[in-house]
Amino acid sequence: MNILCVGAGLSGAVIGRHLAGAGHQVTVIDSRDHIGGNCHTERDAETGVLVHVYGPHIFHTDDAEVWGYVNRFENFLPYKNRVKSTTRGLSGGREVFSLPVNLHTINQFFRKTMRPEEAHEFITREQADTSITDPQTFEEQAMRFVGKDLYEAFFKGYTVKQWGMHPSELPASILKRLPVRFNYDDNYFFHQFQGMPENGYTAMIGKILDHPGISVKLDTEFTPEMGEGFDHVFYSGPLDGYFGYELGRLGYRTLDFERFTHQGDYQGCAVMNYGEEEVPYTRITEHKHFAPWESHEGSVLYREFSRMAEPGDIPYYPIRQVKEKELLAAYVKLAEETRGVTFVGRLATYRYLDMDVTIREALDAARGFEACLERGEAASAFSTAPL
Ligand code: UDP
Repeated sequence: MNILCVGAGLSGAVIGRHLAGAGHQVTVIDSRDHIGGNCHTERDAETGVLVHVYGPHIFHTDDAEVWGYVNRFENFLPYKNRVKSTTRGLSGGREVFSLPVNLHTINQFFRKTMRPEEAHEFITREQADTSITDPQTFEEQAMRFVGKDLYEAFFKGYTVKQWGMHPSELPASILKRLPVRFNYDDNYFFHQFQGMPENGYTAMIGKILDHPGISVKLDTEFTPEMGEGFDHVFYSGPLDGYFGYELGRLGYRTLDFERFTHQGDYQGCAVMNYGEEEVPYTRITEHKHFAPWESHEGSVLYREFSRMAEPGDIPYYPIRQVKEKELLAAYVKLAEETRGVTFVGRLATYRYLDMDVTIREALDAARGFEACLERGEAASAFSTAPL
C-alpha cells in the first residue's frame, strides 16, 4: 500500500518505519527543512555544542519496549535530569534550590534539618491545606500537597509565566507531572529508564527513517487533497490545521528562545528555573550539560519565554482549558468522520505528550493498522480518533 505520513517527528518516523518494515511504500513529508519535529537537535558550528533547537527534550520512560526501540537506533547515554530553581526564599532574598521539591528543598527553604518523617509531618500538619479533599485545579493541588509557602516560591510565578493564566484556572493534572519527595532524590523524573541519545534526536530519527521503503520530502506543506494519492494518511500536524481552522483555533502556548553564548560554564547545570513572576523568562537551559560526556569550552544557552501562540507561531503546549475542550470535541467529531486518515501525536490529538508516550502510541497505531488489513478491512476504515 501507499502510505503518507505527515510530519517527520517521532510519530511520523515510527509509524513510517513500522509500515515500511511490513512492506508498504511510505512517504514522509514535513513542512520544515529538517526532520525530527520539535525534538530536533543540531550541532552549533561555533561551539560544537549539540543544541536542542526547540527546547530541551529528555528521554525518560517506564515502557521497556519503547526504551528498547529507541536504543535500537541510537546509543543512549546515562543522563539524569537535575533541575534547580532560583527564587525568593522565606527571608525574601534570592536563593538557588533543588527541584523537584525534595527534602533538600524543604530543609533549605524552612531553614530546618528534618528527617523524612519529620518533614512529611511538618508539611502535612503545618503547610498543606488538608481541607482540600479532591483538588481540581493546579492551585488546589499545590495547596493540598505542599502548602502556600512552597507553592508561591516554586509554582505560582513559574506557572503564571508558563501558561499565561492563574493556577486556579489550570487543571491539577499539570502539577501531577511533578513529584514531591521526602528524601534527597533530586532526579526530576521517576522513570526506570532515562538517558540521552549520544548524537541527538535528529540522528536517531534519521536512522528510524533510513529504510528503503521510506522516502522523505522536506519543505513540503500538507494539503488534505494530497491524501487522495495514498491508501492511508497518518497525520501528525495540528488537528485544527487539518480542517483549515474552520471551527476556530485550538489554544497553544508557544515559546520564544533568546539564544546567547558564553565562554566556560554559565550556570553549572542544564536547567535553571526561575520561580518568580518578576523574572520574565521561565528558565535558562545550558545545552552542553545535556551531553555531559562531551566537553566544550564554549556554551550555548536559551532563555525561555512562553506566550500565547498566534497564527504562524510554532504550537508547543496544548492549553486544554474548558473552552478548548469544547472546540476539541467538535474537531474530534470532524476527525472521526474523516475516512482514510489517522490522527497521531501531540498536535493532532492536542495533548501534552512526552516522547515515550508518543512512540508507544505510534507503534500501537501502526500495529492497529496492520491488524486491520490482516482482518481484510479496507485501509480507509482504519482510524484512531484523537482523544
Ligand atoms: N512547574 C512549576 N515550577 C517549576 C517547574 C514546573 O510551577 O519550577 C509547573 C509548571 O506549571 C509546568 C508544570 O509544572 O508547566 C510541568 O512541569 P514540567 O517540568 O513537566 O514542564 P515541561 O518541562 O514539560 O515544560
